[in-house]
Amino acid sequence: MSKQPPSYYLKTSRAFSPLYKYAWLLTVLIGIGGQLFPLLGLLVPFIMAALLATSLFKGKYWCGNYCPHGSFFDNLLKPLSRHLKVPQLFRAKAFIIFVLLFFMYNLAARFINVYDAMGTGEFYEKLGLIFASTYLMVLLVGGLLAVIINTRTWCHFCPMGTMQILMYKLGKALGLTNKTDKKVTLEQPDLCRSCGKCARVCPMQLTPHQNFSENYQFDDEQCIRCHICIESCPPAILSLANRVKEAPHRESI
Ligand code: SF4
Ligand code: SF4
Repeated sequence: MSKQPPSYYLKTSRAFSPLYKYAWLLTVLIGIGGQLFPLLGLLVPFIMAALLATSLFKGKYWCGNYCPHGSFFDNLLKPLSRHLKVPQLFRAKAFIIFVLLFFMYNLAARFINVYDAMGTGEFYEKLGLIFASTYLMVLLVGGLLAVIINTRTWCHFCPMGTMQILMYKLGKALGLTNKTDKKVTLEQPDLCRSCGKCARVCPMQLTPHQNFSENYQFDDEQCIRCHICIESCPPAILSLANRVKEAPHRESI
């Protein structure tokens, strides 16, 4: 039997904040517990509001630092993941938009179904179950993809992630990100070895070293600010920084 070649992507651990280390408990509580106690699902709109508000100021920072599902993928499933390349389909704009529209259509159709129960004691339970079931679906589908492909496969097309990018664009247009948006930043360009390790450890399979902007920041809107590239860079020349000031003179790397 032919041996599978090692993956280009490296499975690397990173430091977790106490909040992010245990945020996965919320996923289990809502996704599984919500099937028995549907009112738990009513926590989800608050989580959605928090992540959308965060993205106005900090892009997809939520995904790498607070997201309960992200915590589930990173904390529990990483050891089991095959850590392979995420198929191009899951990164395609058309697919990402399709998933967002399908998600919204599905949610709207289910809301209409429970509308009849409005004003009855059952209404909030039925509403909660919609959100709890959605949470469970992400836990199951995202979890399966995390194991058979890569930990953050789901995050490439997650409807909440896409909505965060839209809010981020709005935040940038309104200037809300100016003081709060911290991006991966190349602090000492001359010391970059072009080793590509920042790309090999990136759970979103991005390529920071090839895409720094004029002021040496990584502007990719899919970046979840997870710090893994920063912690893994051999010469330790990356940081998460806000650099809305004049661009330094760019020298060749
Ligand atoms: S890991 Fe660091 S040294 Fe290597 S390419 Fe990325 S920024 Fe440059
Ligand atoms: S570029 Fe760095 S901070 Fe951004 S998602 Fe990839 S590893 Fe995380």
